[in-house]
Amino acid sequence: MNLYVHVPFCRGKCAYCAFYSESRFDKSLWSRYLSELERRFAAFSCDEPVKTLYIGGGTPTLPPVDCLKSFFALFRSSFPFAPDAEISIECNPETMSREKAELLAGFVNRVSMGAQSFSPVLLEAIGRTSKDPGKIGAAFRMLRSAGIRNIGLDLMYALPGEDMALLKRDLDSALELEPTHLSAYSLTLEEGTALAERKSLQVPSDDLSAEMWEFIGSYTAEILPRYEISNYAKGDYECRHNQAVWHGERYFGFGPAACSFDGVRRWTEPASLNGWLAGVPAEEDLIPRETRLAEIFMMGLRTVRGWRIPEFKEVTGNSLRCLERKIARLEENGLLLREGDVIRATRNGLLFWNVIAEELL
Ligand code: SF4
Repeated sequence: MNLYVHVPFCRGKCAYCAFYSESRFDKSLWSRYLSELERRFAAFSCDEPVKTLYIGGGTPTLPPVDCLKSFFALFRSSFPFAPDAEISIECNPETMSREKAELLAGFVNRVSMGAQSFSPVLLEAIGRTSKDPGKIGAAFRMLRSAGIRNIGLDLMYALPGEDMALLKRDLDSALELEPTHLSAYSLTLEEGTALAERKSLQVPSDDLSAEMWEFIGSYTAEILPRYEISNYAKGDYECRHNQAVWHGERYFGFGPAACSFDGVRRWTEPASLNGWLAGVPAEEDLIPRETRLAEIFMMGLRTVRGWRIPEFKEVTGNSLRCLERKIARLEENGLLLREGDVIRATRNGLLFWNVIAEELL
């Protein structure tokens, strides 16, 4: 069983961010959030131990220590966990303290730290609320000395004003901290965000952004090889939760804006804490069976390993027959490669994964 829990509180709102969160922490809202989680956890029939739990947000490390204590206790009393369960939490460096790091170490075994950049100028340019890169290293040290070994970093690239030299500097600062995992996403100007509204914003061209993607892959290859379009890690440290999601496994999401997939149906909770608390129903994504299969297939193609054909059958109960013609076209165009019983994206296929997705859907 794979679980996701969305913590919908942040300290402010970053100008580029399209994730749902309330822009301040409120203790009474937190209590109502926790009670509602408790109610939903109790109503959920968990037929197998939790293999992966991903606590995302929002800023899950924002609530004070006493709030996080009861949050973690709720998980412990609600679910059986597999002995080797991966328990991840997203962390904002500015919310970290020694006490919190120790509390985290008692429950999670994987931390994903949102750095975005080590350059105050670039952080300012994207309207990031956490603007002090010095806090990233400090948070790393607190988590390490509390005993957490598996700490990843999230970076963004193709930021306004960024060039290859600034990107290299960010990668050097990131690698210096010896993270076990790196996520590097290019900036996308999401509709409705404050950054997308800025008229005079100068972002790197698509060509420069592609060059940056290539550079990240080659620069980190020895230490943290790419295993998904935007993710890098040594084998044992790949994010098992995300691998499960990309490869069509079931996952169940709790909290506002959380998504779930039960193997057939996919649904999303309302992106509003009040709506979710009031029981506004989740929205189901109703699509034909063939489209669902194509969607599962294309998500797995985001990963470097792609799909073993028998694995696809095992997970979905279906063969790839309905997609054969499209797959052949993508092979002819050099975006997919078939080797024995494996189908995976080529290097160009990873770079132009959106073309693969468009062809398959
Ligand atoms: S801290 Fe993260 S979730 Fe919160 S507003 Fe910033 S980017 Fe969005």
